[in-house]
Amino acid sequence: MPSVPITVAYGDGIGPEIMEATLHILKEAGAKLDIEKIDIGEKVYLAGNTSGIEPSAWDSLRTTKVFLKAPITTPQGGGYKSLNVTVRKTLGLYANVRPCVSYHPFIQTRHPNMDVVIVRENEEDLYAGIEYRQTDQVMQCLKIISRPGSEKIVRYAFEFARRHNRKKVTCFTKDNIMKLTDGLFHKVFNEIAAEYPDVENEHWIVDIGAAKMADTPNAFDVIVMPNLYGDILSDVAAQIAGSVGLAGSANIGENISMFEAIHGSAPRRAGQNLANPSGLLLGAIMMLVHIGQTNNAEKVHNAWLRTIEDGVHTYDIFKEGISKQKVGTKEFAQAVVDRLGKRPQTLKPVAYKQRDVEGVYSETIVKERSDTKKDLVGVDVFLDWLKGSPDNLGEALTKITPEHLRLYMISNRGVRVWPGGAAETFCSDQWRCRFMSREKGTAISHKQIIELLGRVESAGFDFIKIENLCNFDGERGYSLDQGE
Ligand code: NAD
Repeated sequence: MPSVPITVAYGDGIGPEIMEATLHILKEAGAKLDIEKIDIGEKVYLAGNTSGIEPSAWDSLRTTKVFLKAPITTPQGGGYKSLNVTVRKTLGLYANVRPCVSYHPFIQTRHPNMDVVIVRENEEDLYAGIEYRQTDQVMQCLKIISRPGSEKIVRYAFEFARRHNRKKVTCFTKDNIMKLTDGLFHKVFNEIAAEYPDVENEHWIVDIGAAKMADTPNAFDVIVMPNLYGDILSDVAAQIAGSVGLAGSANIGENISMFEAIHGSAPRRAGQNLANPSGLLLGAIMMLVHIGQTNNAEKVHNAWLRTIEDGVHTYDIFKEGISKQKVGTKEFAQAVVDRLGKRPQTLKPVAYKQRDVEGVYSETIVKERSDTKKDLVGVDVFLDWLKGSPDNLGEALTKITPEHLRLYMISNRGVRVWPGGAAETFCSDQWRCRFMSREKGTAISHKQIIELLGRVESAGFDFIKIENLCNFDGERGYSLDQGE
């Protein structure tokens, strides 16, 4: 078998130690890898590159298409963009796959049979990172959920389930509140689930779903979620399985994929031969499966399970009475190497088949725009204003509204405050003023909006943004307000 080129970053903090340990194990297991090293992280940030990655490193990633990455330290303070988010979004690594498995009775957990895979959407949601300070008092972060983005991740989750013989895919969203964004994710989930009659499907509202997962993780198999919920809940799942230090993760894209531990660079533990390399090693095993070296993946995984089972533990998972030997990073790696070819006796050995090799499942993604009919029916004009009551504002805006439009309502933080607001509602300095066509249900034009904005400006108001209100095939494409 020819060597497979991969790109490796040793990262910061405990990164170099756990990467050396991981690569030592892979080499001794006979993995055929041709390693290209790149520098990313703290050094690169502090050298003045705010993204933490040198332009030349992208060339390596585009050539090898496989990236094994140790954790990095994001320097404190503003101005530094998260390298992880940059890499995931730039390279289109849309699926973050995090298996969370318990190793009872060798690693303490309240959930002895836990085996859940979190499939987290990796590019969109609040992680689009589009944020604004709009007024003195108000900050805003945009939550972006797209149909193609949702289709890719949901299909990936079902294909993953099918390929890995998993019985059920669960979707978590908060679409009782975010009816358009999370509503789209849920809708796409239902559409795609119908194409997989052999895989069970269900949906939970994320809050109660998360509570259920923390309490009874065995009720779940594969869980697919938008980015933020997935980020938080995959850490919860990993921790209740035993430790976040034991979880690896794959970031899968159509062309390039990245494999890593889910934990960070633990700078306080760096350079002391203390860190547990298991998270990165399990990420590396997912990489071996991805590149088709399933025999090596199986050999390493079973040797690692045997090491855990033999009670050879680093400080973070060491428990008096359960563990047998407390070891450092290097000794742990050597213990795994010594067990290559052995299988666990109590824990279930893993068996990887060629069919597990990761593929990309985006064949039926809607790439073209559909021919949905879009009608502009109104506009929300957001104002920075702190001079009076909602009624004062309503009166002033009504006076300047052009004749073909009408001021329909004013809301503050999503609650209608004019007309007929409640005296108790707290108002910030950010106001949303909704203008609709004077004739109900009639379209308006961009020209009319521009005329309106001209008048708003002439009357001395500070408009901070507008959002057009559209119907799509007659269906409302904007949310109602509380009280509307
Ligand atoms: P962390 O995961 O680095 O560490 C939290 C604590 O967990 C550590 O103090 C340590 O006690 C323990 N720990 C974590 N990994 C361990 C291991 N392999 N072995 C033994 N103990 C381990 O989280 P943090 O302290 O919040 O973040 C530190 C830095 O890591 C920050 O700069 C953060 O931005 C970065 N970070 C990077 C990634 C990544 O590169 N993927 C992910 C998360 C955090």
